[in-house]
Amino acid sequence: MNPTLEIFSQGEEVVTGQTVDTNAAWLAQESVQLGFNVTRHTAVGDKLGDLVGLLREIATRADCCLCTGGLGPTSDDLTAEAVAEAFALPLQFDPVAYAQIERFFNFRNRPMAAINRKQALLPAGARRIDNDWGTAPGFALQYQRCWFVFLPGVPSEMRHLFDESVRTLLTDRFSLQPGQLITLKTLGIGESDLQTVLAPIALPEQVQLGFRAGIEHVETKLLFPHDFPRQHMTELVQAMAQAIGAYVFGIDGPDAPVGDLADVVNTLMNAQQRTAAFVESASQGLLAAKCIGCNWLLETRFNRAEAQAPQNPAVTADWWELAKNLAAATQQRSGADLVLVQLYQGDDALFHDKDLSIVLYNVLLTTEGFREQSHTINGTLKRKQNQAALLALDFLRRYLQDKN
Ligand code: ATP
Ligand code: MG
Repeated sequence: MNPTLEIFSQGEEVVTGQTVDTNAAWLAQESVQLGFNVTRHTAVGDKLGDLVGLLREIATRADCCLCTGGLGPTSDDLTAEAVAEAFALPLQFDPVAYAQIERFFNFRNRPMAAINRKQALLPAGARRIDNDWGTAPGFALQYQRCWFVFLPGVPSEMRHLFDESVRTLLTDRFSLQPGQLITLKTLGIGESDLQTVLAPIALPEQVQLGFRAGIEHVETKLLFPHDFPRQHMTELVQAMAQAIGAYVFGIDGPDAPVGDLADVVNTLMNAQQRTAAFVESASQGLLAAKCIGCNWLLETRFNRAEAQAPQNPAVTADWWELAKNLAAATQQRSGADLVLVQLYQGDDALFHDKDLSIVLYNVLLTTEGFREQSHTINGTLKRKQNQAALLALDFLRRYLQDKN
């Protein structure tokens, strides 16, 4: 059995929703990948009694607990005090921690306030976790069943400490068997449709299936036990990719991450030694921006919709013709192997209104001729812009992967 792990976030602003608890999400992912069985997330405000109660509960039910926040110098930073009270451990002055805090202020030529001395008080017997990035050191200690690790709340400091020392401390202390995580990345299909197409595939009980929808793409995550047979795993992943179809733009293996859609397109363009030129409208420069640093992109142009509407905008065929003419002219001028033209039908009012939609006409000119693809997109201006850029990139990706 994998050891159990809980995550505990401290801070009034987390409980009230002013700060989104990104620490818990980040730590949970890291812990699952290390091989822990993450059982619970809790957030508690700045109340000593609540903190003490929760620490005592966790000490009896979890093997490990990662806590963030409340290590600062102010009166609402109560973690060390709560630990001292919950586990009946006196707070002791740690001269090394104090010297680190002093050095932090000296480096920055700032006077150290008297209250910062508080951050050098650690519960007796705790192991200090040095923090050369901020003022508050973290600390760790065993109490009853649980090994507790206390980290600062500021996400960059917390991640730094985790990467620098906590990960190694955890792998040294616990016998962990990390699972094998496979992520299927898709664009253009939502979570519920994914669940529907995947429903007929029977997954063994030990395999965990999860979905994560982001702004850029949707991920289907499969966590296999460390000893799951490789061949069986490959077959299952293939069956799932097949069921989802052309929406899959990449699959992250345990040791081979593919990146996001732009990374996948970049890899394909380089491998196939092709060049491209873009003419974009609704994506407003974002399509080119997503390909930042890509040498295969020879030319990008941005055209406002009105400047290039056909004479009769109600006739769909005229949009395709216009897009193809633009693509041919761009091909002539740039000499690119692939030309992607994106036009949209709809005036400024449609584009700006979050409740109204616009129609996209994407044309790809390849050595074999034209490909066409149309979409209706809606939402805020920024959402339309992002969708338009992603759909255009995905259109190119499908061609490069030979999928329709
Ligand atoms: P400080 O020395 O800055 O007081 P701290 O360890 O006491 O650090 P907190 O005071 O709890 O940490 O939080 C500091 C800041 O870090 C918060 O204002 C918030 O911006 C961020 N933060 C705290 N907890 C979280 C969390 N769970 N997820 C994301 N951000 C957080
Ligand atoms: Mg604080």
